[in-house]
Amino acid sequence: MNTISENLIRIKSNLPEGVALVAVSKTKPVPEIMEAYEAGQRIFGENKIQEMAAKYEEMPKDIEWHMIGHIQRNKVKYMASFVCLIHAVDSLRLLTEINKQALKNNRVINCLLQLKIASEESKFGLTEDEVKQLLNSDEFQGFQNIKVVGLMGMATFTDNKELLQNEFGALKHLFDKLSINKTDNCNLKTLSMGMSDDYPIAIKNGSTMVRVGSSIFGKRNYNI
Ligand SMILES: *Cc1c(COP(=O)(O)O)cnc(C)c1O
Repeated sequence: MNTISENLIRIKSNLPEGVALVAVSKTKPVPEIMEAYEAGQRIFGENKIQEMAAKYEEMPKDIEWHMIGHIQRNKVKYMASFVCLIHAVDSLRLLTEINKQALKNNRVINCLLQLKIASEESKFGLTEDEVKQLLNSDEFQGFQNIKVVGLMGMATFTDNKELLQNEFGALKHLFDKLSINKTDNCNLKTLSMGMSDDYPIAIKNGSTMVRVGSSIFGKRNYNI
C-alpha cells in the first residue's frame, strides 16, 4: 500500500495546470490529514459541518476548508467564520442563510451551485431552469455577502464512461453558457466535478476542481 503523501504527490503530478485538488478528508483523523498537509496539500474537503469545524480548530490556519456535503441551514453558523468555499448550494433559502451568517461575520462567502447531473434519483441539486430562476431573482441580486463563483456536480455512480462523459459534458455546457453573464455576486470560474473514480473523465470535460478522497487517504470506514 502507498502512503498518503505518495498518493497525493502522484495524483497532483498528473493534474493539468489550472485544475485544483480538494483532498476529501471526511471521516479521516487529524494525524492522517496532517500527513497530506506536510506533503504540501492546503485545500481539504469535508461533508459534515461540525466535523469540519472541529478539524479547523485543531489544525494549521493556512488550510482552506471546503464544505462539499449537503447542508442543513441551521448549521451554517458553525462554519461561517472560516469556510473558504461551499460546494453544494442547492436552494435560495440556503443562500439566504449563508448570506445572513456571512454578514454577521463581516465576510463574503464563496459558493458553488450544485446541479443535478446524474440520472440517479438520490443525488441532490438544481435543474438548469431552477439555476436560472435563482440567479435572476431579485432576492439573489440583493445579497451582499455571498458570491457564486461556480458550479458543482456529482455524476452517476457507474463505470459507464459514455454516461459519465455525457453528464460532465452537460454540466460544462451549462457552465459555459452561464459564465457569460457576470454580476457583483455571480462570476462563474470554478467547475467542481470529479471524484476518485471519475476525475480523469471530469477533467477531459472541463473540470477546474476535483474532489478526491479515497485515492489519497484510502477507503473510508463509516462504522467507527
Ligand atoms: C466523499 C465525496 C467525494 C470524494 O469521494 P472519493 O470517491 O472518496 O474520492 C467527493 N465529493 C463529494 C461531494 C463527496 O461527498
